[in-house]
Amino acid sequence: MLIMTDTFHDFVEHLPILDVHEHHLPEVVLQRDVGLLQLFQQSYAGWTQARPYCLPSESRDADPMLEPAGPTTWAALAPFLERSGSNSFVRNLSRAIAELHGNGEPEITPENWETFDAAVRQAHAQPGWRQEILRRERITTVITDAYNDPLLDPRPALGQNYRSVMRLNSLALGWHPDSRDHNGCGAHELLRRAGIAPNSFEDYLEGLEGLVDGMASRGQVALKNALAYDRDVNFDEPNEELARAAWGKPAPSDAERKAFGDFVVDRLCRLASERDVPVQMHLGTGIIRGSHPIGVAGLIERHPRTRFLLMHLAYPWSRDLLGMAFVYRNIWIDLTWSLLLSPSHFKLALHEAIEVLPNETLMMIGGDNWHIEETYGTMRTARRLIAEVLQEKLSAGYFGRATAERLARRILHGNASAFFQLP
Ligand SMILES: [Zn+2]
Repeated sequence: MLIMTDTFHDFVEHLPILDVHEHHLPEVVLQRDVGLLQLFQQSYAGWTQARPYCLPSESRDADPMLEPAGPTTWAALAPFLERSGSNSFVRNLSRAIAELHGNGEPEITPENWETFDAAVRQAHAQPGWRQEILRRERITTVITDAYNDPLLDPRPALGQNYRSVMRLNSLALGWHPDSRDHNGCGAHELLRRAGIAPNSFEDYLEGLEGLVDGMASRGQVALKNALAYDRDVNFDEPNEELARAAWGKPAPSDAERKAFGDFVVDRLCRLASERDVPVQMHLGTGIIRGSHPIGVAGLIERHPRTRFLLMHLAYPWSRDLLGMAFVYRNIWIDLTWSLLLSPSHFKLALHEAIEVLPNETLMMIGGDNWHIEETYGTMRTARRLIAEVLQEKLSAGYFGRATAERLARRILHGNASAFFQLP
């Protein structure tokens, strides 16, 4: 039995991965001066200290993840490693750093942190470090979500193995030239860059079409709706009159803002279906009171020919999402992040997903990370957890080895390759 277990884990270890979601931003990953503290600050481990988005009751001056990290000291590391040391994000990143930068020491401690810091700095000084780790972890293609630059063509800066998505948040909030999404992006500035100057609501809608038509030339393979960080995800039936009422106002009413966003999102989903461009959508957490997956059911029903890739198992509402994926046949499941939030819930949810999803072609995986160390750690974790679940299914006699192998290949690579039409 033990030999069998090792063999199946071994099989999963060696599969290539098509990574459908990262936040590899040129401003972050092209820096050559990176220390140990920065890896923790610019990662989900950083979210244990500061949430990088505001609730409706809050405001902020800057994104804490993009603020310069101070000098690495034990006092600065201890909040992550000691106070939040049991958190799964911290465990994932610490393990990865120990594997990539250590000499067999399992933990970063007050005694060894300086050695780790020096090793991190040395690795990041090498321009080839990120691509070397992608090769080592057999990650063939990375789809990055550069939320601070929604029109980024990632290939010149990051490499030919990169593609990007076009974040639509600012577009859904673009009723006024000064309106911004939670990452500080303004729709009118994006349109200007694409040579479009909208003087009316009609111009604006035409401009959206221009942006979608330009995606292929920028290496952009999907739209990304992360509005769960800016508003609720209840994208209701479009109300054009109310949406128009928001146009040009610096401070439209709540109802006008919502209608404007609903209308724009609906329009973009229609454009996406006409061009067969998929739509990734963040669900769960975010503005937690408005991110339940059932909120997007109306949008999914109104656009049966749009391919929606719903993210994060809508944690903590994974069962609700899987129920929707059984009913609606234009939903795909991006497991990204759910395995980092809670590895044990992920295993339970993956067991259920295998059982309830109508076919094997729906699930895919991404890292959702900023630095390559965290991506590496996430993919190590993903391989381990997926292998454990499939091995448990094998041991229970749920299916045989051939099905388990086929499903592993599909989750890690095949499904994403077909979905995004990437080799
Ligand atoms: Zn993300």
